[in-house]
Amino acid sequence: MEIRKNDHFTVEIEDMSEDGSGIGKQNGYIWFIKDTVKGDLVEASAMKMKKSYGFARLVQVLRPSPDRIPPACPAARRCGGCQLQAMRYEAQLRFKEDKVWNNLLRIGKIEGLRRAEDGAAAKADGGEASGGVFLPIMGMEHPWRYRNKAQFPFGEGKDGSILCGFYAGRTHDIIEQEDCLLGIEENRQILDAIKAYMEETGVRPYNEKTGKGLVRHALIRKGFATGELMVCLVINGTRLPKAEALIRRLRSIPGMASISFSPNQENTNVIMGKTTEDLYGPGYITDFIGTVKYQISPLSFYQVNPAQTRRLYETALDYAGLTGRETVWDLYCGIGTISLFLAQKAKKVLGVEIVPQAIEDARRNAALNGMDNVEFFVGRAEEVLPAHYEKTGVRADVVVVDPPRKGCDTRCLETIAAMAPDRVVYVSCDSATLARDLGYLCGRGYEVKKVRCCDMFGWTVHCECVVKLEREEKNG
Ligand code: SAH
Repeated sequence: MEIRKNDHFTVEIEDMSEDGSGIGKQNGYIWFIKDTVKGDLVEASAMKMKKSYGFARLVQVLRPSPDRIPPACPAARRCGGCQLQAMRYEAQLRFKEDKVWNNLLRIGKIEGLRRAEDGAAAKADGGEASGGVFLPIMGMEHPWRYRNKAQFPFGEGKDGSILCGFYAGRTHDIIEQEDCLLGIEENRQILDAIKAYMEETGVRPYNEKTGKGLVRHALIRKGFATGELMVCLVINGTRLPKAEALIRRLRSIPGMASISFSPNQENTNVIMGKTTEDLYGPGYITDFIGTVKYQISPLSFYQVNPAQTRRLYETALDYAGLTGRETVWDLYCGIGTISLFLAQKAKKVLGVEIVPQAIEDARRNAALNGMDNVEFFVGRAEEVLPAHYEKTGVRADVVVVDPPRKGCDTRCLETIAAMAPDRVVYVSCDSATLARDLGYLCGRGYEVKKVRCCDMFGWTVHCECVVKLEREEKNG
């Protein structure tokens, strides 16, 4: 019987898609059903159908998968943030590992890779001789309240009330402030203080449709190692009226170290403005990853899960195999987070990043840590690296890359292959482009030695991964 829009049907969830939807099949026709878990038997309602596949909505779970749990967050289905809230954390980790593993084999055609059993991680060096080893994912000990940063939109309710919370999935409708369980507990208190200030002073939230009103977003950040809190209000204007009333309320929250605002009068989806003005504090908060110190201003990029970032970078540092004699390139270095980590063990670290402000932060952070063996360049990795190599002939011993989702430019990979460093360490947030780039390097004399995923974003489908490659014949 043919299924039409809004028809209900029963289907078993056999697999999960990359974006976290459950996949069910009926006579070869494929259904994508959000909020379901592999192993569920569900009743679904057809929404949109193409020739060979369609999308359906979960109506009810008829027989839950052993991996299904009740979502901890009451907004799990409406909010677009978490895709895997109904899946046991352990099952999420397997899902992520399998996704990366399959991409490495299918897209990268990486040969000789074998999976280490759980618990074998400690003595994983056994795999060095023949092919590479895919180590167990580094999961979080406590996969809640791990995010050090959040951006909350403000808006107006139909009755004129001030709304603040999260956008419902793929819309700009604001779900009134629920306590997001990935964020810090202080978020709620801070948002209440901002709302109280607005109610007291008559400052209005921004209305996207009319372009009127002032407060657009609140950026909140916390240094987990220091306890320092930062609040930056993004406003549709150039000044914040009666700011002292806001400062007074926010300062009563323990740890408050930096209060500022950022003017953004454009009609755009970009959250932050281009500049900030300080209302209280030095304009930044301080945090540590391991023993490296960082100053973070409202516009700086900074990893959102510091505990897992540390484990990821320690793995990258381990894979770089530094003895103190090496020259290392850190490509796509951002604010130099990895560069400074590497500089603790390398002779010299050279960092490249396309965003000039990030390089300013990187230089400041290097000075802050008293590191004089790092040098930063503004530009495209695929241009700076070849130009520097041609000009100086300096060959790197190790190259570390941490590109955005689209992966490395071919010119960048070509130059790496020509420079022939002993080791390449690839940090990736997208296993499809990672697999493609590893495939390229494997065709140019490199071998994948170790692969290790790191869960930085529990309850979402995202997964970070770090890979160690070695040149096959080091003297060749
Ligand atoms: N390694 C950093 C940031 C990695 S995110 C950290 O861990 O903090 C990727 C970075 O690559 C971003 O900062 C982005 O601005 C930068 N980027 C994007 N395209 C680039 C290019 N072609 N060349 C150099 N940097 C680039």
